[in-house]
Amino acid sequence: MKPAPFTYAAPSTVAEAIALLGEYGDTAKLLAGGQSLMPMMNLRLARPQCIVDLNRVAGLDYIEERDGALAVGALTRQRSLERAPLVRQHYPLLYEAVQLIGHVAIRNRGTVGGSIAHADPAAELPAVLLVHGGSVHVQGPRGIRQIGGETFFHAYLTTALAADEMLTAVHFPRWPAGTGWCFIEESRRHGDFAMVGVAVLLTLDAARLCTRVAVALCGVGGVPHKMAAAPTLLLGHPPDAARLRAVAQAVAAEIEPESDLHASADFRRHLSTVLR
Ligand SMILES: Cc1cc2nc3c(=O)[nH]c(=O)nc-3n(C[C@H](O)[C@H](O)[C@H](O)COP(=O)(O)OP(=O)(O)OC[C@H]3O[C@@H](n4cnc5c(N)ncnc54)[C@H](O)[C@@H]3O)c2cc1C
Repeated sequence: MKPAPFTYAAPSTVAEAIALLGEYGDTAKLLAGGQSLMPMMNLRLARPQCIVDLNRVAGLDYIEERDGALAVGALTRQRSLERAPLVRQHYPLLYEAVQLIGHVAIRNRGTVGGSIAHADPAAELPAVLLVHGGSVHVQGPRGIRQIGGETFFHAYLTTALAADEMLTAVHFPRWPAGTGWCFIEESRRHGDFAMVGVAVLLTLDAARLCTRVAVALCGVGGVPHKMAAAPTLLLGHPPDAARLRAVAQAVAAEIEPESDLHASADFRRHLSTVLR
């Protein structure tokens, strides 16, 4: 399959990219790693009139700590995140999750901003953003705004981004010492999108009682889901087997998974209770 005809623009600054978005409105599409956009265009599921290629825009590719959070430029490749010592050492959940995205060839091109902006509910990074309590930085003709992960994802492949705005950075706040982490997912084959994935951060104090916890799931509905019941069930308690079982049971009541080619809604609900 080949894409429908389109015009191509390669801006070199964020301002130029935003001006092009303003000119073409919702008939333009930003191109980052192309790992989701190009297949959609080739299948004619997306038919943008103008492709605004971000790959020559300067200043969007960085990984650094700012104000207690990992700041990642939107155009940072997923593979760069995986290879950064800072991420491996202080953001181990992110390190674990990013390795589950497709295969190395995909992560070599796919970007952090592209994954978050694309908002595939089965993707790993949106769930990690929710668990960290992270936010995205967005720029448009009306200025810059910072949007919390919990309000960014609106529906399947739909976010708070306006047609003339672009994502410039993603921030993942660092969790304190004493925090454990886990990202676990079930997919049909290695490298496939998860049928269901679960991301957890959990902090214990010296008495091994839970002082902070966040749980998010991917693949269980139109948007990544941050569990409401986890803090209620765990805060102030040791995360023993009985409590973790209660959390796993509670998640089934919170989610509305859908059936598709890969898994039925019932199977996804079942997975959400046994992945831990
Ligand atoms: C075989 C295969 C397997 C895959 N498996 C997984 C997987 O297991 N998990 C997973 O999470 N992903 C998976 N992916 C998708 C991959 O991670 C993509 O890299 C990611 O979804 C999109 O990132 P990208 O940089 O390629 O974005 P693109 O494909 O370039 O863009 C995707 C969408 O985001 C928009 N966009 C991109 N950048 C910005 C920005 N800065 N601001 C606003 N909008 C922007 C584009 O306009 C487009 O609508 C897979 C892809 C393939 C081909």
